[in-house]
Amino acid sequence: MAAKRKPLIAGNWKMNGLKKDADNLARGLARRMAKTKGPAFEMLICPPAPLLNFCASALKGSGVKVGAQDCHAAEAGAHTGDVSALLLKNMGCGYVIVGHSERRSDYGETDKQVKAKAEAALAARLKVIVCIGETLKERKSGQTLHINRRQLRGSLPVGATAANTVIAYEPIWAIGTGQVATPSQAQEVHAAIRKALKSKLGANEGDNMRILYGGSMKPDNAAELLILPDVDGGLIGGASLSMTDFWAIAKAA
Ligand code: PEP
Repeated sequence: MAAKRKPLIAGNWKMNGLKKDADNLARGLARRMAKTKGPAFEMLICPPAPLLNFCASALKGSGVKVGAQDCHAAEAGAHTGDVSALLLKNMGCGYVIVGHSERRSDYGETDKQVKAKAEAALAARLKVIVCIGETLKERKSGQTLHINRRQLRGSLPVGATAANTVIAYEPIWAIGTGQVATPSQAQEVHAAIRKALKSKLGANEGDNMRILYGGSMKPDNAAELLILPDVDGGLIGGASLSMTDFWAIAKAA
C-alpha cells in the first residue's frame, strides 16, 4: 500500500440499531479510540439517518467520524423521504456512501444516479464512498473485471480526487453471506480498479485513492485482506454492529 494511503475502517450499520445501541457503540468506540495513540487507521461509522446527529455529537472530538448511507442528488426540494448532502454535512457527517448494492437492487439506482449523488456529496464538501461490485452470476461468467470497470467509469464523480473520494469494492455475493472473497480474488479486482483510476485520474491521484474491500469482512479474515497491496481498508456491515468485532478489524489494519 502507498505510504500515504491511511486505511479507512468504515462500518455500514444499514437499517440496524436503535438510539440505545448507537449510544453504546459510539461511546464504546470513542473510549477505545481515546486509548489508542496515533491510530494507524481512520475510523468511520455510518448509522441510519435519524441517528447521524446523535452519533456525531457522541463522537465529537473522538477521532471517529460519522457518515451517511445515501444522499439525494438534488440540493433541496420536493423529494419526500430523501435527505440532501448539504443537510448531512450540516448534521455532522464527514462522509456519505453512494451506490451500495442494496440501494442499486432495492431502488434500481443506476451508475448515472450514483454519479449524480456523488457529485452532490462533493459539492456539499462531504467525502464520498462509491460502491461497486459484481454479482455471482457475473463472476461465474468471467465478467468480474469488466463489470467493475464499467461501474467505476459510470459512477465516479467529476471532481474526484484521492482526498475526497474512496472506492469500495463489494462483491455482491459476499455481502452478508459469510462468503468472503479470497485474498487473490480481492487483490485482482482492487488492482484492476487501481489501474483504471490511474488511467482516468492520473498516476498520482489513482495511486493515492483508497479502495476498500467489503463483503463478510470479520476479525478472522480481516488481516489477510487488509495486508493486500491495493486494499486500503474495509466497508464492514454485520461485524460493525459489534464493538469487539469492529475494533478487532480496525486493529488488524
Ligand atoms: C456491506 O453491506 O457493505 C457489507 C460489506 O456487509 P457485510 O460485511 O455484512 O457483508
